[in-house]
Amino acid sequence: KQSQDKIQYLANHDSLTGLPNRTLLADRLEHALQESRRSKKQIAVLFVDLDRFKVVNDGMGHNVGDSVLIEVSKRLLSVLRSGDTVARVGGDEFIIIIQDLDSALSASKVALNLIQSVKEEIIVDEHKITIGASIGISIYPNDGHSADELIRQADIAMYDAKENGRNMYRYISQELSSFAFEKASMESSIREGLSNDEFEVYYQPIINLETMKVSQLEALIRWNHPKLGLVLPNKFIPLAEESDLITEITKYVVFKVMKTITELKMINNYQCKIAINFSLKDLESDSLFYTFKNYLQQFKIDGSSISLEITERKVILSNDKNQKHLERYKKLNVAFSMDDFGTGYSNLGYLINKPFDILKIDRSFISRIGEVDKSEEVVKATISIAKALGLRTVAEGVETKEQFDFVAKYNCDFVQGFYFKTPEPIDEIIDYLQLDDNRVIED
Ligand code: C2E
Ligand code: MG
Ligand code: MG
Repeated sequence: KQSQDKIQYLANHDSLTGLPNRTLLADRLEHALQESRRSKKQIAVLFVDLDRFKVVNDGMGHNVGDSVLIEVSKRLLSVLRSGDTVARVGGDEFIIIIQDLDSALSASKVALNLIQSVKEEIIVDEHKITIGASIGISIYPNDGHSADELIRQADIAMYDAKENGRNMYRYISQELSSFAFEKASMESSIREGLSNDEFEVYYQPIINLETMKVSQLEALIRWNHPKLGLVLPNKFIPLAEESDLITEITKYVVFKVMKTITELKMINNYQCKIAINFSLKDLESDSLFYTFKNYLQQFKIDGSSISLEITERKVILSNDKNQKHLERYKKLNVAFSMDDFGTGYSNLGYLINKPFDILKIDRSFISRIGEVDKSEEVVKATISIAKALGLRTVAEGVETKEQFDFVAKYNCDFVQGFYFKTPEPIDEIIDYLQLDDNRVIED
């Protein structure tokens, strides 16, 4: 009897981690589906694939790789409830079943916790190892009715997560395409999202090239959509800009930013300027202006802690009305940056006598540094003309050392880009600022 049990166990479990294997997973998922058909509750299937595991396994040897897998299994289990299943289905692939979901949104909370737990340093012997996890999510009954279908969908979503930068989760995006085109449903989803607190403000440091310290943070909105996972702003801002919805979003961002400024001041005594992206509609909105002013008073913040970014694509500043709109913020000591310079009319004439302090050179020019076309010349010329007009420049989207060296050589004032830091939630940015003294904020 004992050896029979043992054989049964071995047939259903992964020998390294002791987790259920694919066979047992299929059983459990079938069982869960039957139950859910009765209870009408949803199920989430999470396909987890580790990032950078292959590098560890190839570089440090299989023993280290095995230890990492054992540790990861423990961490995955520790995040889940006892009724959930986590199975190992491939070298560095796991599938998780979460039963009795109240809403699809709860799956994303679990996914975030899983990612967080995997991301923390793993110590094997004297090696300090950091890996990550990309997670694809499918939901029963929306995304499939059978075990196979759900696993396949979660697998596709996982690839989507990997492609979009790793260390993130994605829902199967089957709905994404139809969703994006249905304006009406998009608008109501955004409203719903605002009231359900699905939006989040990420921050990306802007670094002063002279001091190499963080000078500003740019606030960039993200949407943690219950079905679609993390949605980036270019998927919904353009549509929001067609209506007053954009101003609702901006009010939300402004509120969050004021809170962050207060928090940074309180915890760390950082005096840090935060940049907020403003649409033309935002600039024109009286109600946003009064909200903005009220928040400044309420949070006891001076306007000089904030700069507003306005994209060159949309800017038509010869217009007197726009000029007035800018100036009322200017009276509150707010600074202005011209964003994405080079994507509009590149009309430096706009900048004469206009209240801009900073010009941000669009990423499309920075990314072509080192290529044979004339982008380098454009970057150089923009920096020097901006300087002559009394403006400081930011190089946007600096991703490589070569790009960094180039803009430093030609006396650009600030850099922003993945070479230093990707946009992250504020807690991670605070960690980054505390990492070493070079990164303490200075104005
Ligand atoms: P932006 O204002 O030019 O912001 C910079 C964008 O470049 C961000 O994209 C940022 O993630 C990305 N980026 C930064 N460094 C790098 C890099 O090294 N490489 C690459 N490939 N990309 C980099 P994100 O966050 O997706 O935002 C896109 C645009 O959406 C923003 O462009 C801005 O125009 C708009 N946006 C974002 N948040 C808001 C908001 O709260 N309100 C409004 N009205 N617009 C927003
Ligand atoms: Mg911007
Ligand atoms: Mg930009």
